Amino acid sequence: MAYISFDPWHQRENARFDTLSDLQLNNIVDEVYRAWDKWRNWPLEERSALLEVLGKLLIEESSKHGKTITSEIGKTISQATSEVEKCATACFYYSNNLERLLAPEKRASSSGEGYVRYEPQGIILGIMPWNFPYWQAFRFIIPVIAGGNTVLLKHASNVPLCSESIEKIILKAGFPENIVRNIFADYSQVEKVISRPEVRGVSLTGSSEAGKKIASVAGSYLKKTVMELGGSDPLIVLKDADLEAASDAAVFSRFQNCGQSCIATKRIFVQSGIFDKFLSLLVEKVRQIRIGDPYDSETFIGPMVSENALNSLQIQVEKTIAMGAEILTGGKRHYADRPVYAPTVVIEIPEASPVVAEETFGPVVPVMKFDNVEDIIADANRTEYGLGASLWTRDLNTGLRLASSIDAGIVAINGFVRSDPPLPFGGVKNSGYGRELSDEGFREFLNTKTVTVFH
Ligand code: NAP
Repeated sequence: MAYISFDPWHQRENARFDTLSDLQLNNIVDEVYRAWDKWRNWPLEERSALLEVLGKLLIEESSKHGKTITSEIGKTISQATSEVEKCATACFYYSNNLERLLAPEKRASSSGEGYVRYEPQGIILGIMPWNFPYWQAFRFIIPVIAGGNTVLLKHASNVPLCSESIEKIILKAGFPENIVRNIFADYSQVEKVISRPEVRGVSLTGSSEAGKKIASVAGSYLKKTVMELGGSDPLIVLKDADLEAASDAAVFSRFQNCGQSCIATKRIFVQSGIFDKFLSLLVEKVRQIRIGDPYDSETFIGPMVSENALNSLQIQVEKTIAMGAEILTGGKRHYADRPVYAPTVVIEIPEASPVVAEETFGPVVPVMKFDNVEDIIADANRTEYGLGASLWTRDLNTGLRLASSIDAGIVAINGFVRSDPPLPFGGVKNSGYGRELSDEGFREFLNTKTVTVFH
């Protein structure tokens, strides 16, 4: 197996890397573990300062790193650069909150004085996806190293240049060597890494299929896991909603990154009475999307990550049409020789069709009508996934009431689902378990140690 970097817009290979030998991989695990033994006791104020430097460096170098992202996955340059800048927000958040997060907590105890402390445990393995190659990786790495653990990063095999650059920028910021190491490992080597006693946890962001495999491997070694998996997020528009704002959010959250996002809006439900109005706003905005060269800062939709990805999406759309759905715009590839898919809106969709029943990882959105507010939650929840949901209404009480019935890890009212360092991020059902970011994500891989002083 090789790690191959391929530019989907220019249709040419950037670079390729062989996987490590078992000996090289074992040596890296040893080095990262030795680094942990020092890093675990590194003074907090120095850790905070390093995170601050890293955040500033990411902002300073965002356009260079953005180009690396564009060259490997075809993400538009403006979205790729913003992604790198977003990584800085995690650095600043943990830099500013580290002391609070690691302060021992005094608790009442029946037998004396109780304290809870949060302590690092060793190496945490991160298995990361290509679609937000910097943000997903930093969202995992920053809280883990802030807490005093060290990291092995097994990134997706199509983003090796991003993976190497992530390791390098962390070193450049002044972190000690081997706090974060990139590994080009194949699947059997990943299992060997998980089996090493120095590896105390595994965080995977990716498909539900990969999640099931890695969770079962990790389970067989009793290693804790966090799973951030697929999604089929609904966006629900009630008849009192601000339709301009809701349609803007629908366009951005479905079509950014060419629809290749776990928390993209993947199903739109619109209340009868405003359905036609919302639909015409949506279709008009989708038709105005600028499609083309991802290296042009004005482009909003560039290529999908690969021909394979486009073909899988095309099959889902064709099956859906064969079941009776109607395409309002898009529904086909945009260029013959590049994997660019025209942004697509579908209506009259049978519930069992692939664009509703499965996760679509590309620029396609089904729009469905509903009558009754009380029934819509059951429709929205009728999916194997439970990552995010977006609700649009001017009545906050209704919004909050419906939010509590939605079976998802994140609900956005009058906004679209996004990740934000101060707030926990994660899903339920086949979207996974555990949380990233915020206090909850910070503590996932720390040892919650109880210390009791008896009197
Ligand atoms: P993927 O195929 O599951 O790959 C994700 C990562 O897992 C890659 O590094 C991949 O390595 C690795 N992997 C897969 N199977 C493995 C195995 N058996 N052993 C070891 N490693 C394995 O997912 P993807 O296509 O990159 O990403 C798309 C999926 O991720 C979508 O379903 C999306 O919704 C989900 N996602 C979820 C979130 C979230 O926060 N919940 C965020 C982003 C994406 P290779 O590249 O070497 O195969």
